[in-house]
Amino acid sequence: MQYHINTGLIYAELKKDCECPLCSIEKIVDEQFINEYLNDAVCDDDARKEVNAYGFCAEHYEKMFKRPNKLSLALQIFTRLKTVRTNAGIPKDAKSALKTSESIIASEKTCIICKTLDYAMTRYYMGIADLFTKDPAFSDLLLNGKGFCLHHYAKLLEYAKYAGDKQKQYVAVLAQTEEKALDRMTAELKWFCDKHDYRNRTKPLGTSQDIIPRMYKKLYGKDLT
Ligand SMILES: [Zn+2]
Ligand SMILES: [Zn+2]
Repeated sequence: MQYHINTGLIYAELKKDCECPLCSIEKIVDEQFINEYLNDAVCDDDARKEVNAYGFCAEHYEKMFKRPNKLSLALQIFTRLKTVRTNAGIPKDAKSALKTSESIIASEKTCIICKTLDYAMTRYYMGIADLFTKDPAFSDLLLNGKGFCLHHYAKLLEYAKYAGDKQKQYVAVLAQTEEKALDRMTAELKWFCDKHDYRNRTKPLGTSQDIIPRMYKKLYGKDLT
């Protein structure tokens, strides 16, 4: 599998005022893959083999269904279902029923788009570590940002070794950025609570106004809808 990250996208998203630039990147890359699986991938034999083997998770099925290209989805689901039925087989007794059951349960857990997205995002985690080693201004870009959601912070830490001989400095910058972000949000959350005290009723809520949805993003990497 080959995937080339877009470093321009990393810079653009890091400069934006948001609680997790990697969530934004993941959303953009996810959209690209959904488009691919609704267009070119339908006529590509290798891609179809992978779709047959992995299928789509419920979330990606739903995202694809919301797009206009229903035929592309139908064609892929048609052959995927064939694979699932062939692999599962028709149980003849309790022993083979267990095998059929395991095969069906396993088929629920795979998704070609999730798999491809995971691979692409891993390249981004490695790429960010690499940019830290190459661009002297990158450290400030991270420190001036609002940090990452906890999941993406954990992922950046997991791949910190890709910062080579600067991995110690990289981990320190990541930790400092995230600590600053969590301190800021803790203070915003505290003010949200304190504001409910009648003595504070005339004081402005300020940035604490939307702390609950922003905290959701920080904790779960998703937007509260
Ligand atoms: Zn995130
Ligand atoms: Zn999926």
